[in-house]
Amino acid sequence: MCVFFAILPLFVLKLLKFLITKTRFLLAGIGLIILLGVLFGSIMRKNNLQIFSNIALQLGLVKGPVNEIEADLNNSKTGDLIDTRPVVIIDPGHGGSDGGTVAGGALEKKLNLEVANLVGKKLTQAQVNVKFTRDSDLKVNLSERSKLANEHPGALFVSIHHNASTVPGAHGVEIYYAQSKPDSVMLSQRQYFKLGKNDSFSDHRGKLLAGHVQYLLCSMTGAKDRGIRDSRLAMTRWVSCPSILIECGFLSNAKECSNLRSSAYREKMSSGIAAGVLKYLKMVDADPYYGTSIKASKAAEIAQFQSENSGL
Ligand SMILES: [Zn+2]
Repeated sequence: MCVFFAILPLFVLKLLKFLITKTRFLLAGIGLIILLGVLFGSIMRKNNLQIFSNIALQLGLVKGPVNEIEADLNNSKTGDLIDTRPVVIIDPGHGGSDGGTVAGGALEKKLNLEVANLVGKKLTQAQVNVKFTRDSDLKVNLSERSKLANEHPGALFVSIHHNASTVPGAHGVEIYYAQSKPDSVMLSQRQYFKLGKNDSFSDHRGKLLAGHVQYLLCSMTGAKDRGIRDSRLAMTRWVSCPSILIECGFLSNAKECSNLRSSAYREKMSSGIAAGVLKYLKMVDADPYYGTSIKASKAAEIAQFQSENSGL
């Protein structure tokens, strides 16, 4: 009996220890299951790409503008527009009786409108104010398009086209901008920046916009980068604000044509174009004189502008 009473407390202690260890283990298990449930529920509710790209960004697994901007596109919510940002005018080339290029069973005017609508949707989701030169199968003259654009001197203008060549192997993306525009066209830009008669003004914004869009469009689609090109096209030269014309790819190339006709490829392409525009807008957010020479000639005014806005 004495031995029994001597080992009883020891046995109870061991039993308690076992139960405590077991309980801890059980509690930890239940906790883990609840945590996994919450995470899984959250992933199912939200956009997977957003979560995974954010996690990847936070872990430093991916870097660079493509992923940053992709996260921007996915993080953006539909809501109030940011009025201080430039309006983006999207110009689907051709329309109505003007079909544009016809090749490989594709009609350019139709593809232009489809890409334009997707780009517009993505930019609107990113709280950018978007306008279209046409939003249906209408014929709109080039002069009407530039007139509409020039009603918004603070805008960005993005014209969307598809290319063709007599060389069947030609493929890839080209973006055009005009380095030099007539003084009559640039007058509204001088007024927009409140420049005096003698203030010098050189403008590289079209080239910069073309560069951002070209880089992100080619990165997201894997299309061949045929470079950005200075050319005096109607839609670049006669539009006063930074303006570009995108040739999304060659309908005359069988392989590229089949890409351009696929909705999955168009989705990537429109993400690339929207991302390039957003990248440019981010630069303008940080520096309203981005891409101009005004910064040097108006340094004092800019310093004042920055000090006035520093508390915001
Ligand atoms: Zn065209």
